[in-house]
Amino acid sequence: MGKRKGTPAEPADSSDREEPSPRKKTAKSKATGRPVSENPYVKDNWTIHPPTLLHRDFDSQQSSKIAAFDLDDTLVKLKSSSNWPVDANDFKLFNKRVPAKLKEILDEGYKIVIFSNQGSIKQALEGKASEKARGRADNIMAELGIPAHVFYATANDKIEDDLFRKPRPGMWDLLVREHLGGKAPDLKKCYYVGDAAGRPNDFADSDRKFAEAIGIKFMVPEDVFGESDSKKSMKAPAGGPNLNQAMSDAFNELASLQERSGGNPFGVRATKKVADIIAGFPQQITSSSMVKSVAGVGKSSLAKVEEFLSTGKLAALEEAGIKVGPSAGDDASASAAVQFL
Ligand SMILES: [Mg+2]
Repeated sequence: MGKRKGTPAEPADSSDREEPSPRKKTAKSKATGRPVSENPYVKDNWTIHPPTLLHRDFDSQQSSKIAAFDLDDTLVKLKSSSNWPVDANDFKLFNKRVPAKLKEILDEGYKIVIFSNQGSIKQALEGKASEKARGRADNIMAELGIPAHVFYATANDKIEDDLFRKPRPGMWDLLVREHLGGKAPDLKKCYYVGDAAGRPNDFADSDRKFAEAIGIKFMVPEDVFGESDSKKSMKAPAGGPNLNQAMSDAFNELASLQERSGGNPFGVRATKKVADIIAGFPQQITSSSMVKSVAGVGKSSLAKVEEFLSTGKLAALEEAGIKVGPSAGDDASASAAVQFL
């Protein structure tokens, strides 16, 4: 139960990877033969790069050594308890060491680059979601005060033939091709840091696969910055009993269901987090108010906790034919049901 799978729309291989840079001819999608971008243009200091890319260079320094970072849950976390940013100010630093550490990396002569998937924007590059995401990056960069080049891949899982969404290496290829001043990156010294590393509690492994596709070293945020300040650890001691097994199973199944049906990655991750919180909760949960103040448990999760407490199930799972708990039968039948979604 609760097994996670890679997103089918994002093949782990790098078959659509362009040739190593620098290169002169226009990059084309192998699948469609269309140019990767037609007519990038600048708006509000951002380069709008149709069909699915935005980027802004916040005065990054040029170097063949690139220190690249994911954004959410790597450099910053959400300030709100929502599943995704509520506005352009919805962020806090991953921990207070982030700015000083980035400054150190800068002083070692690295170009700092941020590669972030922002699938809520899709192809509406000038739409409201785009405006919010761009404004949020502007605010984050102002708070960090570090020169860096920020790339946003705006496609979600449902947009086919996209070259930019991680784990595909298109953002990196574009950086090398057009924004390194003709320098070739020194791959042995470059690295990428991200939280989607395929660890047991991670919602995905797209960051690790992105680094693998490029061929550079991969690290998780804790390797570089240490533990996050804001994580309120609700983990039971190792080997401790899960006093809320049926409820945590239900939330894990819900996360898998959301992932398989192409749900918003922020939402999938949030559900998974809540499942972990419930599994590690040191008491049997008998009321949603017991988990109300725990970081990561938002309004919609609270409603689901209530639903589970009063009905013993989650309607979303029932509708998909997924049973959890003592009456669930074996794993095979539950996952068989999922195959037909
Ligand atoms: Mg992340």
